[in-house]
Amino acid sequence: MNDSFNTVTGEWDGQGEFLPPDDPRLLVHYASYGVNYGNSIFEGAKAYLGRDGKARLFRINENAARFARSARGIRMPPVPEEMFVEKAIELVQLNKKYIPEFEADPNKRGSLYIRPILCGEAGLGVAPSFKPKFLMFCSPVGPYYATGFKPLHAMSVHHMVRAMPGGHGAYKTGANYVMSMLATSYAKENGCQEAIWLDGNRHEFIEELSACNFMARFGNTLVTPAVSDTILSGITRKSILKIASEQMGLEVQERALPLEEVLNGADETFGCGTAAVITPIGKISAYFGRYTREITPDVGELSQKLYDGLTGIQWGENADPYGWITFVD
Ligand code: PLP
Repeated sequence: MNDSFNTVTGEWDGQGEFLPPDDPRLLVHYASYGVNYGNSIFEGAKAYLGRDGKARLFRINENAARFARSARGIRMPPVPEEMFVEKAIELVQLNKKYIPEFEADPNKRGSLYIRPILCGEAGLGVAPSFKPKFLMFCSPVGPYYATGFKPLHAMSVHHMVRAMPGGHGAYKTGANYVMSMLATSYAKENGCQEAIWLDGNRHEFIEELSACNFMARFGNTLVTPAVSDTILSGITRKSILKIASEQMGLEVQERALPLEEVLNGADETFGCGTAAVITPIGKISAYFGRYTREITPDVGELSQKLYDGLTGIQWGENADPYGWITFVD
C-alpha cells in the first residue's frame, strides 16, 4: 500500500492503493530524504490466526498513536490514526491467506508481521521531508522460538550510546536501529546474543535492548525502566505491566533501574517486544565482559507465565478483558 501526502491540502489523501510487491510505484527514489538523511519512521504489528480461524490484530490503535508521535517527533506530517487502523485492517483482509495456520503448541505458531513506514520523498536539502510517502507491507513470519523458549546471554554496553536526552530515542526512527546494529555486533563478538543499552550520561541505568524493552523481577516486584525521551514506549511492555499487576498480583514499578541493582539482586530478567513477546535473559555480562552474573539457568517462572498469558490473548486462547483485539473478517 502506498499513500501520498497532499501538499496543497496539507493532508494525507487516504487513496493509497494496495499493490503487488514488485509494483514500481513502491520503489523509493535514491534521492529520498529517508534514504539520505534518515527521514523515516516505521512500526511493527502482528496479526494472528486463532483456533476459530479468525484473524486478530493486537492493540493496533497503539501502533497508530505511536506512528503519529514518531512522525511529529521528526517533523513529518502524522498519518491520522483512524486511517492507519483502516489500512492495517484492509492489509490483513487482503492477505488473510498468508497468515500461518493456528498451531496448538505455542512455540510453533507463526503470524503475519505488518510494517508501516513513513519515508521522505526525493529532495536535496537537509530538512524535514514535506512530502513523505506512507507505505504498509506485510509478511508471514514463523515461530520465534522454533527451537524452544530458551534464555539468552546479554551484555551491557558501556562505550556506546543509543539515545541521549533531547534526542529521538523515543521515536521509532531508523537511526536508532543503526546504533543497535553496532551494539549487537559488539555483544556477539564477545560471545553474547543481545546488547543491553545503558543511559548515555552515566552508563549506570538500564534503558532497553536493541528491539525490546527490559524488565527485572525482584521477589514479587516487577521493575522496568520508566519511559523517557531515550526509551521506546513498547506496546508489549505496557500490556505486560497490566497483566502482571492485574492478573498475577505483582507489584509493578516504572522507575530508574541501576544495572548494579539487577546484577546484585534480580531473580529474573527478560526483554519484551512484538517480535518475541518475551525474551528470557539468563545471564548478563557487564563492564566489557569483566563481570558475568547468571540470573537463571532456565526460563523463569514469571517469564513463562507472562509469555503464555499474553500470547494466549493474541491467539484468542485466553479472554481479552481489555479490548486489545481487533477482529479482521
Ligand atoms: N524498544 C525498541 C527499541 C523496539 O524496537 C521495540 C520494538 O518495536 C520495543 C522496544 C518494543 O516495542 P513493542 O512492544 O511495541 O514491539
